[in-house]
Amino acid sequence: MSGSPIPAPDSAAVTCPFCGLVCDDLVVTGTPDAPEVRASGCPTAANGYGQRARSDGPRIAGRPATLAEAAAEAARLLRGARRPLFGGLATDVEGARAAGRLADRTGGVLDHMNGAAAVRNLLVLQDGGWITTTLSEIRNRCDLLILAGGDVTPRFPRFFERTIGARETLFGDRPGCDVVFLGHGPSKGTTLRGAVEVIGCDVPALGDAFGVMRALLAGRPVDADAAAGMPIAVWRKLVERMRTATYGVIAWAAPDFDFPHAELTIQALCELVKDLNRATRFSGLPLGGSDGDVTADAVALWQTGFGLRAAFGGGAPEQDLHLNATERLLATGEADVLVWIASINATRLPPATTTPTIVLGHAAMTVAREPAVFIPVGTPGVDHAGHLFRTDRVVALPLFPVRSSTLPSVAQALSAIEAALGGGG
Ligand code: SF4
Repeated sequence: MSGSPIPAPDSAAVTCPFCGLVCDDLVVTGTPDAPEVRASGCPTAANGYGQRARSDGPRIAGRPATLAEAAAEAARLLRGARRPLFGGLATDVEGARAAGRLADRTGGVLDHMNGAAAVRNLLVLQDGGWITTTLSEIRNRCDLLILAGGDVTPRFPRFFERTIGARETLFGDRPGCDVVFLGHGPSKGTTLRGAVEVIGCDVPALGDAFGVMRALLAGRPVDADAAAGMPIAVWRKLVERMRTATYGVIAWAAPDFDFPHAELTIQALCELVKDLNRATRFSGLPLGGSDGDVTADAVALWQTGFGLRAAFGGGAPEQDLHLNATERLLATGEADVLVWIASINATRLPPATTTPTIVLGHAAMTVAREPAVFIPVGTPGVDHAGHLFRTDRVVALPLFPVRSSTLPSVAQALSAIEAALGGGG
C-alpha cells in the first residue's frame, strides 16, 4: 500500500515507541488507517506499526460495553479492593502519571511488566551508585565499546547505527570504534567499522571476570587460571585495553542477565567502571526503556520519591523491590485486583491469574482468558501524542499520532475510571 508520508507536527520525522532507543528519524507512510515504515526503521518497528487495531470496543466480562460502563465497572472493582496492583505499565509519561494517581488514591502498588529485569539494575543503583553515559556521548566520544552479555541488537535493533555507526561526530569524522562482545557475537548482517572481538565467555559467571579485572587493575595477584570460562590472559588483555581507551563504555541489557543474583554481576561491572575512572574516562550504559519501563520508573520516581514497586497502602509511598513484585503479589493473593496496562505491544498479555483483572490493552491484543473488564487503548506515537523516556533517561521524546484513531489513551481511560470512582475514593 502506498501513500504520502504522515508528517508529525513541525517535522517529517516520526518517533518510534517500540524499543528503548526511541529513534526519532523514521519515515512512516501508508494510509491513515494502516501506517507503514518506509525509511529508518527496523523489523521491530515494522511489527509494531503493523499491529492492526481491532474494531471492538470495551467489554465487561466479554460483553460489549461503552467506555463509561467499562470505567464504572472497573471503579466498582477498585472500590472493593484492599490492595490493587497496577501492573504492566507499558504506557507513556501521561499514562504512568495517571496510573500513579489512581494507585495513590486506591492504596495500590505500581510494578512494570519488565520489573524483574529492571530490579537487577535498581538494586545496584540504590546500593552503590554508578557512572553511566548517554547515546550522544557514545556517538561523539566512544573509542572502545564493550557489550556485556553479547549483542544487544535483538532487543535494540538500531543500537550500533544510532551510536558508533555514525560517521559524523561533534569532533569530526569517526575513524571507527572497537567493539568487544562478552558472550555471543554480532547478529548476522551487522556491519561495524572498528576492530571486533568476540570473547565467548560464560555470561552467568561474568561477575568473576569483572572481579579478576578489578584485581588486575589494582595490581593485586590473581590466583586462578581462568574466569568465566576464559583464561586469565584474556581478561588481562581486555582490562589493559579498557585502561588505555580514551572513552570506553560497557553496555548491558538487564534482561540478558537472567540468572540468580544477576545484580551482583552488574554491581561488579559498575565497580570496575568506577575503578577505571581513576586512570581514564569509562562509563556504563544500562540498556532498557522498552515497553515504557524507564518511563514508568522515572515518573514514579519524580512523583513519589521512589521508583517502581512502590506501594501506597500505608498512607505514604513505600518501595520494596522484592515484596512488591507482580509475580509475588499475585501468587500470594495479596493483590486482590490486577489492573494490567499494555498499550505498546499487543503480545504482552496479562499474567495467568484468578485475580479479577482489568485490562487496558493494545487494541490488537487477544487475551486467553476474558478479564473482568477490557478497555482497548491507543498506542502512544501511533494513535495519540505522548512522551517516552529514552534508555539513557536524559530525554523524554515527544511522540505524535500516525494513525487516525478513536481509541482512548491509557491516561484517558484511567481518568475515566478515576472519575467513576467518585469523590469518596
Ligand atoms: S531500534 Fe527501536 S526505536 Fe529504533 S526504529 Fe527500531 S524499534 Fe523503533
